[in-house]
Amino acid sequence: MKNEYPESFQNLINLLKTLPGVGRRTAERMAFSMLKWPPGKLLEFGTAVCELRKQTTFCPQCGNLSSADAVCGICASPARDRTIICAVEEASQIHSIEQSGLFKGVYHVIGGKLSPLEGKGAGELNILNLLKRIEEGHVKEVILALSHDVEGQATSIYIAEEIKRKSVHVTRLAQGLPAGSDISYADSATIAAALHGRRPL
Ligand SMILES: [Zn+2]
Repeated sequence: MKNEYPESFQNLINLLKTLPGVGRRTAERMAFSMLKWPPGKLLEFGTAVCELRKQTTFCPQCGNLSSADAVCGICASPARDRTIICAVEEASQIHSIEQSGLFKGVYHVIGGKLSPLEGKGAGELNILNLLKRIEEGHVKEVILALSHDVEGQATSIYIAEEIKRKSVHVTRLAQGLPAGSDISYADSATIAAALHGRRPL
C-alpha cells in the first residue's frame, strides 16, 4: 500500500498547489516547512489569510489595492498629476511602474483584457469607470500600458477608440517590453524607457 499523507496535510498541499508557479513538489516542501513552524507563526499566517479580503480592498477610484474601502495612497496624494491616467491590466502592475519612479500621474485598473474565447467582453472589464473619470475630471492623456499580445492589443484599440471620442490624447507604451510579456516582470529601466518612448495610438 502506498504511503498517503494524513488528510489535513494533503488538504494543505492541495491548496498551496493552486497558487501560481507552485507545483506538487514545491507545495509538499512548503507544507513540510510549515509543519516545523512554531504555533505563533502558524496562527499569524492563518490570520493573515483569513483577514486578507477584509483588510485589503480595492480603491473605488482606480482599482488599486487599498485598506478598508478607502481610496488608495496614489489617488489620495495631492502630489500626483490627475491629468494623466495610466491604464493597466491588473493592480499588481502598478507596483512595477511605481518602482521605475518615472510616472507621476494616476492609474486605472482595467481588470484583464478582452477575450472572446473566455467570454470576457467589454462589460466584464472596468472600462466604463475609466470613461466616467475622463468625463468628470480634467484628464489630458491616457497611457495604455496593457500587454502587447493579441488580446492586449485588441483591448488597447477598443479602449483607445472609446477615449478618442472624448477628445483625450491616447498613447501606449513603446515596444521596449518583450512581446506578449507581462509588465509585472519588466525591470524598472525597461518600464522607464517604455514610458518615455510612448507613442500616440
Ligand atoms: Zn486609487
